[in-house]
Amino acid sequence: MKKVEEKIIQLQSQILESRIETEKELLLTEMKKIGIEKLPYSYSALKPFIDSETMDFHYNKHYKGYVDKLNDALSKKKYGDLELEQIIKNISRYDKSIRNNAGGAFNHALFWNMLSPKTQKLTGELYKKITKKWGTFTNFKKEFETAAKDRFGSGWVWLVLTAKNQLKIMTTPNQDNPLMNIIDGGGFPLLGLDLWEHAYYLKYRNKRDEYILNFWKVVNWDFVTKMYELRTQTKLLESTEFRNVISEQKTANFCDAKEIVYYKELLNPYKNKKFYEEEVRKTLKSVFGQFWVEETKDEMSGFYGIESPEGRSILNNLNSNINTFCLLVKAVNKEIDKIGKSDKKFDFTKKEKSNMKELSRFLNALDYFKTNIYTKKNPDFVNIVNVLLILWERGQKSERKVEEKLQNYFGESSKVTRFGKHGSKKDAFGGVDIVINLDGVDYTGQIKPFNTTKTDGDEIAVLGNANYADYKTDWLLFHNTKTDQILIFENKPIGRKYVFKLNSLLHEIE
Ligand code: FE
Repeated sequence: MKKVEEKIIQLQSQILESRIETEKELLLTEMKKIGIEKLPYSYSALKPFIDSETMDFHYNKHYKGYVDKLNDALSKKKYGDLELEQIIKNISRYDKSIRNNAGGAFNHALFWNMLSPKTQKLTGELYKKITKKWGTFTNFKKEFETAAKDRFGSGWVWLVLTAKNQLKIMTTPNQDNPLMNIIDGGGFPLLGLDLWEHAYYLKYRNKRDEYILNFWKVVNWDFVTKMYELRTQTKLLESTEFRNVISEQKTANFCDAKEIVYYKELLNPYKNKKFYEEEVRKTLKSVFGQFWVEETKDEMSGFYGIESPEGRSILNNLNSNINTFCLLVKAVNKEIDKIGKSDKKFDFTKKEKSNMKELSRFLNALDYFKTNIYTKKNPDFVNIVNVLLILWERGQKSERKVEEKLQNYFGESSKVTRFGKHGSKKDAFGGVDIVINLDGVDYTGQIKPFNTTKTDGDEIAVLGNANYADYKTDWLLFHNTKTDQILIFENKPIGRKYVFKLNSLLHEIE
């Protein structure tokens, strides 16, 4: 294993000797790879919190150990020039030893800077945000302390800024960091406290509670404020950049309608559809974990703040859309081509290759290639996001039209209310798009597109949509976007496809 300090000294002298600017730059990059953060104070500077012997050991043995092992692991795998923060954000790409050591290196580099020999007071926007959330600053500190005490075994307690721009206290096990893409409901770390025994045992022995309380005497609130400002600024940049990438591409390429039929068939059995939805969500969570938000009183769980600074992400629709299923298969096939295993590609249009076993193999492959696919650098993914956005806008347009027509049709004694908000619970759980109040009685409705119907005896099939009857509303409404015809059925389809008894047809609105 290379001794990090020796290498730094060697590189520094090389830089001094180097007369060519480009060479200097290359050497500086080489130094960045090592990523040893200088301790910004002496070992004894944080006395009210920690003794110099612990600091010495913590910094020189534990922290440098993580950095050494990380460099070792990275060079063995030939990962090349990487920045620590990028490794952390994409940690799902790496194995366990890199996860532990990169986490250790990153967490401690933050931690040293989060401490200050001088007792500081927090003021400004972050202070306001904290007191708004917890009522008082004391309440915030108490919750932080409780979370720290409740963390069993080794780990860290954090104050993070979530994808939805919310403050949150959380803990992580071992050397995990809230920024790692494998952490559900993570976020951007603003403040963290090391809860490993190596951080306090010499001084405090088993009195971890006392160590936690003394932490407040040395928090570097200036640094925490900088972290907060950095996040609020860069987050906007990131999302704007992503939005630009999307808006640059003016048209979206949909999968061929003839091909979609096969995908629709494959996901028709309820268990296949559920399996597909859950597995795709898992792959998204392991890449965009820090954007995952648990449900609140009004809003459902999901990804927030990916392509726009705070809003619900369109990626929440990825796992329930047939067209993008087809596009994902094409993206995965390209990755398979790249590694030269074309015989392993997927073709769900062939009957013998359109079954649960192949679906399962496909979801494994998607999981394997997820970090190559779920990135704005992948044009197929940008296209998929575009397709989702266009379909969403079409749906919204159709719903607005239906609302207008129904209000005209039912007249003044009725009231038609549409739930257009993406991600509101009403919409998601029962599938309520619209509520029609007729003489004081509410009827909930889900709106689906259709293009034609087929009548057979006393049964009528509504054709031309890719979804299935999983809604709990009173009515199912079908809107023909070309002719604007609306059919309203009682929500009593025969089986899972949209076939009804003719007497379930309540209204036919031309
Ligand atoms: Fe530590």
